[in-house]
Amino acid sequence: MIEEILSKKELNKDDIITLLQVEDRNDVILLYEKADEIRKEYCGDEVHLRGIIEFSNYCEQDCLYCGLRKSNSSLTRYRMRKEEILSTAGDIYKNGIHTIVLQSGEDFDYTGEEIEDIITNIKSEFNIAITLSLGERSFSEYKIWRTAGADRYLLKHETANPKLYSAYHSNQKLQDRLDHLIYLKSVGYQIGSGNLVGMPHQTVKDIADDIILCEKLDVDMASFSPFIPSPDTPYRKQRACDINSILKVMAVGRIVLKNAHIPATTALGTMDQYGREKGLQVGANVIMPNYTPSPYRERYAIYPNKKCVNDNPGLCASCLGLMIDSLGRSIGTGQGHSLKN
Ligand code: SAH
Repeated sequence: MIEEILSKKELNKDDIITLLQVEDRNDVILLYEKADEIRKEYCGDEVHLRGIIEFSNYCEQDCLYCGLRKSNSSLTRYRMRKEEILSTAGDIYKNGIHTIVLQSGEDFDYTGEEIEDIITNIKSEFNIAITLSLGERSFSEYKIWRTAGADRYLLKHETANPKLYSAYHSNQKLQDRLDHLIYLKSVGYQIGSGNLVGMPHQTVKDIADDIILCEKLDVDMASFSPFIPSPDTPYRKQRACDINSILKVMAVGRIVLKNAHIPATTALGTMDQYGREKGLQVGANVIMPNYTPSPYRERYAIYPNKKCVNDNPGLCASCLGLMIDSLGRSIGTGQGHSLKN
């Protein structure tokens, strides 16, 4: 039966649910092979590296799963200022990486003008793509940052189930997130969205809806990442996502979304020593090495024991090069823009 589903051109929701639930060893292998085949056909063998700078761990939001939540008073907070961000951007560029991701909690201490200035400076100094991941900001700021040269915006929808969304995010509504994503696309950003897998109360139908939502939004990048319980959050005692579940979601995501970029996330590498390697073999084509300098990087504690938190970023790049090589893949040579149109 799974062969029949895998040979279809378009999958419906029932097909997606069936694929997400395959347990038989041979079926799982078929699923992973199909995802890898589609990745090769639509994305090629290049693995795009996106150097990430987590420049502030202050956050106005109180998401129940996230270690950066406002109510977490045990976290030492930090903000990197322009000079530090620019010099880290220079490190990323010197390491031959062609995309820089600026990520933070929802921190309104940075004005729209400050972020604009950082974008303008990075773009004038380095030939590099910029992805912003700052949470929800105003539409006028998105527009200004796009004009200043930001290429992409990563804003995960986290869950496509509006009830769960409101349960996880006390003050936020799913529809707002979606409106932001639609606006971002309309002003010319390449958009990234995606979910968390293995969250409390989440069902396989919800995960199918997450994948279908990514398809509807026509995302340029989809990030499916495993939930890892974070101490000092209300979800600290919840069960973590298991590796097989997340790999299946990534594989089905690849089969449905075809040419969207899909990262093998740091969370995947954290839950399993070879998680990122496994992810790259079931549909992923992106890795986001962490360039946040010490002592900040250990404080960007979204979840505990983050992969490579003690490594030197330069070493990280060469270690990833070896890993990508060993899989018969190559590091992306261009900026790794959207593969759509
Ligand atoms: N403030 C930005 C960036 C959020 S942090 C925003 O709102 O978009 C980046 C991602 O970390 C989130 O989108 C979420 O999917 C992920 N994350 C948060 N807590 C997590 C946890 N406990 N386990 C795994 N991933 C988590």
